[in-house]
Amino acid sequence: FSELLRTDPEIALVLLDELERQRAGLQLIASENFTSPAVMAALGSTLTNKYAEGYPGRRYYGGCEVVDRAERLATDRAKQLFGADHANVQPHSGASANLAAYAALLQPGDTMLAMALSHGGHLTHGSKVNFSGRWFDVVAYGVRRDTETIDYDEVRDLALRHQPKLIICGATAYPRLIDFAVFRGIADEVGAWLLADAAHTIGLVAGGAVPSPVPYADVVTFTTHKALRGPRGGAILCTDELASRVDRAVFPFTQGGPLMHAIAAKAVAFGEASRPGFRAYAEQVVANARALADALAVEGMRPVSGGTDTHLTLIDLRDLGVSGAEAENACARAGITLNRNTIPYDPEPPTVTSGIRLGTPCVTTQGMGVPEMKEIASMVAQAVGDPGAITSVAERVTRLTRGHPAYPRG
Ligand code: PLP
Repeated sequence: FSELLRTDPEIALVLLDELERQRAGLQLIASENFTSPAVMAALGSTLTNKYAEGYPGRRYYGGCEVVDRAERLATDRAKQLFGADHANVQPHSGASANLAAYAALLQPGDTMLAMALSHGGHLTHGSKVNFSGRWFDVVAYGVRRDTETIDYDEVRDLALRHQPKLIICGATAYPRLIDFAVFRGIADEVGAWLLADAAHTIGLVAGGAVPSPVPYADVVTFTTHKALRGPRGGAILCTDELASRVDRAVFPFTQGGPLMHAIAAKAVAFGEASRPGFRAYAEQVVANARALADALAVEGMRPVSGGTDTHLTLIDLRDLGVSGAEAENACARAGITLNRNTIPYDPEPPTVTSGIRLGTPCVTTQGMGVPEMKEIASMVAQAVGDPGAITSVAERVTRLTRGHPAYPRG
């Protein structure tokens, strides 16, 4: 860092300011986390210098014998951690992993059935503004109005009616467990592939805190930077039957040279996630999310579907007469980072929304537990409900994060 400070003080200052922002504020974005110094070390390494198109032992560049070891370790650890036949650790992101998975299974114009973005699905699951919505014929399912949980009868009816080639389960703002066995049954009934996009929950799967999609899905895509606590990036797990289709879909079809420094960092993260301490962390993430949802409900902030089984809670703000955008801004002024989010059947547009999404991976990594979740719920409720209280909430945020630093000072 001292070298960066000397040669490029402007960027050095950005790094320092961001470190301070992450430390001083409360980070409640459900898709973020604090990676370990070991993951950071692999990311900031000479592996970023190496071109390695291809796969270990089958590269299109010389000098890959060392980075091959990193990729083999990453794939072996991913296979072992998740009990998968095959792993591809090269996707640069979750979106790249999904692009490659679709390329492995579909042709342009094929039909896919996936969760609507407005009900918690991801952009890459068929939104019109994304490649997935432009290149495929997308049929969307959602959640029931009464339970706000996935309507499996609707999924089956739509599958029977539209005969999709691919069914996608997995979401970006869905607080409940997904019944992968039911999805498998529906996929089998109509002869579709089943893809589980486990970007949000794969860290909880690694820690045994939620059921794994691996035994049910033909392909599992995920990101490595959310609850899993690794570097930014993506990965794909699949059956032996699909291994070479998936590999060819990643390289050469959708990507060029892999990011070997990120792959080494993924290996580090998989190693960390296979240690016993990670189990306790994953269980605490879920216990904290439950405690946070319950405490927010006590504060009059209604959790969509009544609670959570995962790392996130989605809050319906309509009874408070506050929009998601207003709540996000009020929290930001108090040093609490979270995001506005559409809730199912939201009357507001996506830029405004009627909800906020809060996740517990970051605060759990900081060592916070159930008592701190109650404190956080009270701070969020105060910030959202009382504009005059922002300064005092900001002081409470500072006290809380000082006691649980994201990255210890010194
Ligand atoms: N899939 C799901 C379910 C996600 O939630 C996300 C990111 O939030 C992605 C895919 C895309 O990941 P990335 O942002 O790395 O492209």
